[in-house]
Amino acid sequence: MANGKAIPWRRDDVEMFAFHCEIPPGVNELEVSFDDASQPETTNSAKLARIKWNRVVVYPQGMNSDNVRVTASLLLPAGWKFASALPVLRENKDELQFKEVSLTELVDSPAIIGENFRKFILTSTGIVHEVDALADTPAALEIKPETLTGLKNLVPEAYALFGARHYRSYKFLLTLSDHGGSEGLEHHESSEDGVGEEAFTNELELLDFADLMGHEYAHSWNGKYRRPLGLATPDFEPPMKGDLLWVYEGLTQYLGHVLPARSGLWTADDFRESLASVAAELETQSGRQWRPVVDTAVAVQFTYSSPRAWMNYRRRVEYYDEGSLIWLEADVLIRQRSGGKLSLDDFCRRFYGGQDTPPAVKPYTFDDLVNTLNEVTPYDWRGFFNERIYQVAPHAPLGGITNGGWRLVYTDKPNTFVRVGDHARKSIDFSYSIGAMLKEDGSVMDVNPNMEAAKAGLAPGMKIITVNGRAWSASVLHEAIAAAGTSKTPIELTVENGSFTGVYKLNYHGGERYPHLERDPTKPDLIGEVIKSRR
Ligand SMILES: [Zn+2]
Repeated sequence: MANGKAIPWRRDDVEMFAFHCEIPPGVNELEVSFDDASQPETTNSAKLARIKWNRVVVYPQGMNSDNVRVTASLLLPAGWKFASALPVLRENKDELQFKEVSLTELVDSPAIIGENFRKFILTSTGIVHEVDALADTPAALEIKPETLTGLKNLVPEAYALFGARHYRSYKFLLTLSDHGGSEGLEHHESSEDGVGEEAFTNELELLDFADLMGHEYAHSWNGKYRRPLGLATPDFEPPMKGDLLWVYEGLTQYLGHVLPARSGLWTADDFRESLASVAAELETQSGRQWRPVVDTAVAVQFTYSSPRAWMNYRRRVEYYDEGSLIWLEADVLIRQRSGGKLSLDDFCRRFYGGQDTPPAVKPYTFDDLVNTLNEVTPYDWRGFFNERIYQVAPHAPLGGITNGGWRLVYTDKPNTFVRVGDHARKSIDFSYSIGAMLKEDGSVMDVNPNMEAAKAGLAPGMKIITVNGRAWSASVLHEAIAAAGTSKTPIELTVENGSFTGVYKLNYHGGERYPHLERDPTKPDLIGEVIKSRR
């Protein structure tokens, strides 16, 4: 509308998010109104919702988002509470009027709203750090004292690691719901942390929760403050370049494990079990024979949402986990070369620290990264990353584990983080025995082309009906695999493939196999040093 008259619009035929309008002479204000009807089930339940401003804005094309001024308001369902890093101007019952901010700050400051709210204060002095939590039920908000203590510890641990902060206050915007609950999104002064309703009680979900909180918090420094040049676009329209996501996400993934371990949210054993599961997954991933890590980052627009089927062969977003192993290796290398005097913490302080500041973006290039690492510890860092990230690397980067005083081994005892993954995906992970990941109903989610399940002919989309003549259940297959360790007869499966069934024989005789780390007493335990508290 302009001056009370409707203005016709036409969508751009290349940029699908752009609209063309003929503006009559004399008009200097355009009024745009629209409804957002996009996939609400991914951001809300009956009792809570996440408000993502980027889904509900229209702005002038080609203007730097720092220079677009916005005032937002929000009308809540009656009685609902809200939390956001966005500064409030006025609050009147269920109506909120926010202060004028830039479009950059608006989009970076989402809100969570809902019925059951609890605030957990993390710091009693200095600037505000808090967890603002909304859940489907009040009971889901009952946090264990040791969990709250661990969350409080995250703040000084991060400050000791980075040496400065780049926000005015920090809010973890936590939602606990099995409907639209899953989320992890970083912002300068807040993070959207969406977990299941039982995240505070289920031991496996609690481990995942600690990882998420450490990860998204670390992003305030690594990702929001320091950002790869290709991701630091002037507004939200230009395509981004993801080649340095192995820093943005890879180092954050590493710190998202280190910080919970230093804070007491994870034990040392949790940290090592996590390392073992990541190391084993990447070492056995067949796709690493053709695809370098950097390609999983450059192609993020489709690797991020790619299905589980054939993931072992295709790879997914390996800049996260393989990135984390490479940053562990860099950490251990700095510790070794400096005789224990320096660590990756010293790099973090130089690269992400400086003075305490409000939110700011300081872009960097690959050269900046290599130069800062060289200031900490002179080394061929360019060659180090080139070999591990930019070239096809036939083996996973396990140097951080082996030089850190540990060995990757396999036993029949389940790995904690394989269990965490199974719980989250509702899967049964036989990746290290027969080389298959299954759904609870026996459907094949993925196979490793180099291992027995695939060699016998199993593929994603098929479904196991019987195991050695017995009806499918996870425990029947577990028993068959365990028994195969001492048997010479193959495991016989009846498998459904579309409307056909067939018999498949797995010539597997290894028993149950899960990855763990075992201490190598010939070397100092540098992994133990990595996770020592710095408070
Ligand atoms: Zn991340």
